[in-house]
Amino acid sequence: MLDNNILNVLNLRKYFATREGIVKAVDGVNFSIRYGETLALVGESGSGKTTTGHVIMGFYTPDEGKLIYKGRYDLSIPIKKRPLELKKDIQIVFQDPGTSLNSKRMVKDIISLPLMIHRVVDKKRVYERVSELLEYVGLSDEYMFKYPHELGGGEKQLVAISRALASNPSFIILDESTSALDVSSQAKVLNTLIKIQKELGLTYLLITHDLGVVRNISHRVMIMYLGKVYEEALTEEFFRSPMHPYTQMLLSSIPTLSSEDEKIKPAGVESIGEIPSAVKPPSGCRFHTRCPFAKSICSEKEPPDIKVGDNHIVRCWLYE
Ligand code: SF4
Repeated sequence: MLDNNILNVLNLRKYFATREGIVKAVDGVNFSIRYGETLALVGESGSGKTTTGHVIMGFYTPDEGKLIYKGRYDLSIPIKKRPLELKKDIQIVFQDPGTSLNSKRMVKDIISLPLMIHRVVDKKRVYERVSELLEYVGLSDEYMFKYPHELGGGEKQLVAISRALASNPSFIILDESTSALDVSSQAKVLNTLIKIQKELGLTYLLITHDLGVVRNISHRVMIMYLGKVYEEALTEEFFRSPMHPYTQMLLSSIPTLSSEDEKIKPAGVESIGEIPSAVKPPSGCRFHTRCPFAKSICSEKEPPDIKVGDNHIVRCWLYE
């Protein structure tokens, strides 16, 4: 059977030992990403979204579960042990280009490094390719001879994207890649990412807490809270009809610029309390300690996956 998914993740678990106890950062997560789409993984800090991305990258190995890439690669092995073609095929763009770019190297050297390591082009063609990659993200040749500290935040992130593209990947993890940017730099970087995806057919996993960015760039959205997925939907449906109280809380708290945007916000769902510790997550639905609609079953049993639309799944007892 032909699989339309570039990545299938089954029952992923990743725990960390801390002084306080075991943190269940990712605790039984299932999802797929289709070829050429952008899946947004959204949640507050401590939701497990970044850990999930870093397991896919091979920075961490999972404690349990399967991650199958392109139907043939097992992503549960650490990055160092992965075959070269797999290392080339999955790239990441981090939140802070200031620290992810080597401050002592010129842009031409930063981008040429992966070209040489992965032997993507002939040695003689390396700087020509650097120039093409910069042009691709809208930066001129002049940038080749600049150091990271001479660049603005948006320009640094475009250089980081050029570097990610150097190995001709199919899949890029965008790890809060626009969170540190001002509004106009953010728009430029997002438009560049959309253009690149259309032209090269890339697949993105967008890790973010910013629902404004999600609306601009993603095709599907997955909401995580304390290591579990609580809602999953196509982006349009997600914003038109958010179902989970936690999703509604996130949406009702985003600032909006226009009256049109204001209309799609759900009526304010006020959450109560703080995010509980991931060492001792609440029983049943993990959101029950903050949910204004919680009933007795919520603290007793985990809600199952409930299909509320063609491509819309929610885990909440309200919809049983
Ligand atoms: Fe709230 Fe219960 Fe739904 Fe959890 S399952 S979100 S506690 S109503």
